[in-house]
Amino acid sequence: MNAMIRQDVHGVSLWHAVSRNRRDRGTLQGGLDVDLAIVGGGFSGLSTALHAAEKGLSVAVLEAEFLAWGATGRNAGFVVPNFAKRDPDDIIAELGPERGGRLVDFAAGSADLVFGLIKRHGIECDAVQNGWIQPAHSSAALEKTRSRAAKWAARGRPTVALDAMAVTELTGIDGYSGGWMDNSGGVLNPVEYARGLADAAEKAGARIFEQTRVTSIDRTPDGWALKTASGTVRAGKVLVATNAYGGELNPTLARTYIPLKVFQIATAPLSRAIRARLLPGGQGVGDTRRNLFTCRFDGQNRLISGGMHVVGAGAETRVPQTIWRRLARHLDLPDLPPLAYSWTGVAAVVPDFLPRLIDLGPGLIAGFACNGRGIAMTTAMGKVLADWASGTDARDLPLPFAAPSPIPLHSLVRYAPNMLLPWSILRDRLD
Ligand SMILES: Cc1cc2nc3c(=O)[nH]c(=O)nc-3n(C[C@H](O)[C@H](O)[C@H](O)COP(=O)(O)OP(=O)(O)OC[C@H]3O[C@@H](n4cnc5c(N)ncnc54)[C@H](O)[C@@H]3O)c2cc1C
Repeated sequence: MNAMIRQDVHGVSLWHAVSRNRRDRGTLQGGLDVDLAIVGGGFSGLSTALHAAEKGLSVAVLEAEFLAWGATGRNAGFVVPNFAKRDPDDIIAELGPERGGRLVDFAAGSADLVFGLIKRHGIECDAVQNGWIQPAHSSAALEKTRSRAAKWAARGRPTVALDAMAVTELTGIDGYSGGWMDNSGGVLNPVEYARGLADAAEKAGARIFEQTRVTSIDRTPDGWALKTASGTVRAGKVLVATNAYGGELNPTLARTYIPLKVFQIATAPLSRAIRARLLPGGQGVGDTRRNLFTCRFDGQNRLISGGMHVVGAGAETRVPQTIWRRLARHLDLPDLPPLAYSWTGVAAVVPDFLPRLIDLGPGLIAGFACNGRGIAMTTAMGKVLADWASGTDARDLPLPFAAPSPIPLHSLVRYAPNMLLPWSILRDRLD
């Protein structure tokens, strides 16, 4: 294995290392008055900025580090237009046909929105909209994937159930009992996509500042004042789009989700011969295991995978190697090229796995649309938040909107996914 693995330093991921469209934005200096201030320069903040600026609002994005520094620049680049662990009918049963139906439709169209924006704004980000595949690891999971495909198809989505042979043909991977595919999903380079959204937002009139950490958000007679080390933004409305990286800005918000640390790796590029056998259509794969197996190629034929692990001493070197070995085993590739990049990110996971808007005060809102589906969901969330910024009542948006609901025993519960991982792996084997 390669001793020269490039690891997560100052937020560097594969995507930050290889992306071509970097442009520095300045730090906020002095005062600024806007209709909408956005805290956080990830997909949520940038998509909202783009859509709000296109509606004619004055918008400022304030990013503490640099654009895509958070989960946006550290993810795997799968564009997935559905919910982790939730199906349309159970959401409709829980939220009712009207609200549930709107949330389901919101998710259903989210990948088309992403690829549509990429086309409309000419964003070069190695985007491939050729489907997202969920192979089933057991016969119980196969039943679930069949019914999932049928439920999304019933809502007019381009989904298809796959038998074992179809999964092998599409992925080059043996051993699955079948699965399903949503043809509107796909893959992209998330940093290039985020930077493209930022360029488009600026073209539409938004102002974007980097190295500009918001230290406080205070109520004023006509809106809110956001303080940074070198300036103040006064805004009628504010979106907090800090996801799992919000730190101390709003401690209540930090207790509403589980911060899940996820490792990602990329191999050195694969030869053309192997590349032609594996995922010839360039789709993204994420299977049904609790200890999820994922893989995709990037634009330079590197294989990308990820996973969680019980975090402890030496995890930063141990876990990427475990993921690399799993990838080689799973793809039956003893000559898998060496590990070339590894990095980590933190995802915000909420107990019901549904995206949501959180009411933090009059005209002050936070948006969470992650649960591992953030690229498509946060992009779509940005579009509806632009409606909110221009006057639509938050209760009329397709996402659930409520006061913050901190998770009981959060300081313990937050470690549960890592602590329970060995149990999840065992259950995957027993399925
Ligand atoms: C390892 C990993 C893999 C994933 N894989 C996928 C995938 O393949 N597909 C998918 O759809 N989703 C995936 N996700 C989820 C997806 O990346 C996230 O849902 C999405 O990026 C969230 O975007 P965001 O803009 O809400 O937050 P973030 O991208 O996390 O951005 C928040 C930003 O807020 C800034 N910030 C925080 N505090 C302040 C402050 N006080 N002042 C100013 N700025 C501040 C941070 O610096 C950060 O840049 C993955 C997540 C992780 C961690």
